[in-house]
Amino acid sequence: MDLCQPSVIRQLMEEAGIRFRKDFGQNFLINPAVPERIADSCADREDCMVLEIGPGIGCLTRELALRYEKVVAIEIDRGLLPVLAKTLADCPNAHVVNADVMKIDIPRLIKEEAEGRDVVVCANLPYYITTPILMRLLECGVPFRSITVMVQAEVATRLTAKAGESDYGAITAVLGYYGDVKRLFTVPAGCFMPAPKVNSAVIRIDLHKKCPYDVLDRSLFFGLIKAAFGQRRKTLVNAITSSYQSFSKDCVIKALNQLGFSETVRGERLSTSDFAALSDLLYEAKEGFSSK
Ligand code: SAM
Repeated sequence: MDLCQPSVIRQLMEEAGIRFRKDFGQNFLINPAVPERIADSCADREDCMVLEIGPGIGCLTRELALRYEKVVAIEIDRGLLPVLAKTLADCPNAHVVNADVMKIDIPRLIKEEAEGRDVVVCANLPYYITTPILMRLLECGVPFRSITVMVQAEVATRLTAKAGESDYGAITAVLGYYGDVKRLFTVPAGCFMPAPKVNSAVIRIDLHKKCPYDVLDRSLFFGLIKAAFGQRRKTLVNAITSSYQSFSKDCVIKALNQLGFSETVRGERLSTSDFAALSDLLYEAKEGFSSK
């Protein structure tokens, strides 16, 4: 059964009495080379467990199950369960969990399912919640080896931008804290049914085994990034001092100068490592002040 054949997809859905759910971001792959390539790219060892989000009718799930020891796929749409039972019937190492990835206890699921295996994430993400899903995966505390996901091409450009580029934003700086991101390949809109309006791209985030940014105060670090990009048109000094009344302009300017930036610099020029250094300097300045 070719799960990337539009007629097969339609027939499977008809038999299950279901339709494409736009509200769940259902755009299924119809070019078999794409799930093969995503599955090839998502892990370096066969003996790992793959956590898939949104298996749809199972075209990527099958490719993952062929290559890796175990696959656990979280699917929100209950209507797809009988389809998946059919399409994954000959994949005993693939297991579907009917749940919302934004609500399920991911650490618990991994603890129950991984049985000591390394875990990687692989998904053709539903576009309506790409960033919240990515943030949830990054913040849930599970030491995933890597996260390989298909996202809208423009989102991929944002996620892989470098400091100083126009697409660089808060999410890029935050992502840098968790891992190294690279764009793997572009997937034209015509590879999906129904076809979305824009192209997609696959990115892979290799998570740091040990975070290189040992920031003194994580909430200050993330808060500074949020402040910097929440008020993009302001200089970084003004953006920070309007969000944090506890820091004077002089104190922020001094910290920026120490890092080699001028007082007129904007947030988009700072890399993750610059934000980490700035956060530590401001934290120490605050501590020094409060202990006087
Ligand atoms: N993997 C399939 C493919 O590549 O053809 C389908 C990908 S489709 C873009 C996104 C899938 O995510 C759909 O199956 C959709 O039902 C599922 N989904 C949407 N929101 C979800 C959520 N919050 N939790 C789990 N699955 C979700």
